[in-house]
Amino acid sequence: MSLKGKTAIVTGSNSGIGLGVARELARAGAAVVLNSFTDREEDHALARDMAAEFGVEVRYIKADMSKGDECRALVEQAGACDILVNNAGIQHVAPLDEFPVEKWDAIIAINLSSAFHCTAAALPMMRKAGWGRVVNIASAHGLTASPYKSAYVAAKHGIVGMTKVVALETAKEPITANAICPGYVKTPLVEAQIPDTAKKYAMTEEEVIEKVILDRQPSKQFATVEQIGGTAVFLCSDAAEQITGTTISVDGGWTAL
Ligand code: NAD
Repeated sequence: MSLKGKTAIVTGSNSGIGLGVARELARAGAAVVLNSFTDREEDHALARDMAAEFGVEVRYIKADMSKGDECRALVEQAGACDILVNNAGIQHVAPLDEFPVEKWDAIIAINLSSAFHCTAAALPMMRKAGWGRVVNIASAHGLTASPYKSAYVAAKHGIVGMTKVVALETAKEPITANAICPGYVKTPLVEAQIPDTAKKYAMTEEEVIEKVILDRQPSKQFATVEQIGGTAVFLCSDAAEQITGTTISVDGGWTAL
């Protein structure tokens, strides 16, 4: 599978799943635009290292995905967008009647509205290029719910719905739109929660992984960022040309329960 000649923008890609997806797209030959809201030397170093490792062009562009104009500016500044991976996301956990309004607004903005703005800016470029792939990183929480995650579940269900609309609006064009729905993926964010949770419940770290974090994941294994990246590369392949407007779960059986 070669993505040579294609440019991929991955939002929120200086860590975790976004970085993993960007690496797999670069491995497949795509030029990559990395993004986050910071502008640190290490962000640019990440781009340089990835370019050297995979022999492709990699740029880092700072843009805050909580702001619509910055989302659109990211795509404009990239100058081309054959593959758009809407990945940036944050989480906050609280009962609905205590959920801080500013957290609700931030989650809806970053996890959902950014995908609207980036896709709106990218579609004309895809149409001009005569090819395009929109890959939205949703979640098992785009298909199911958990208590205390009202904003996250609403945003993820929202992005699954928007994926279908984009697919219908581009159905007769060589453009597809799909959502990947990961279960728990071992990213630094998730890993960092393990020791604290172990202390809180007086459990070993292994027990926390199996009984708390992976409670709803029947495989009792985390998905990896490489597996999410590989799924994104598959969605960009010729084999996936007729796959559009749907979700692919990478969740160890979570949504089969
Ligand atoms: P992460 O915290 O490692 O990555 C989030 C990325 O988004 C980071 O690069 C961060 O810098 C960026 N980001 C945050 N706010 C931003 C903003 N305002 N503007 C630009 N970038 C911003 O978390 P992750 O686990 O890799 O999550 C990535 C995506 O995958 C999210 O959409 C998340 O909901 C989804 N997801 C994660 C899991 C999991 O288990 N880790 C499971 C399902 C879905």
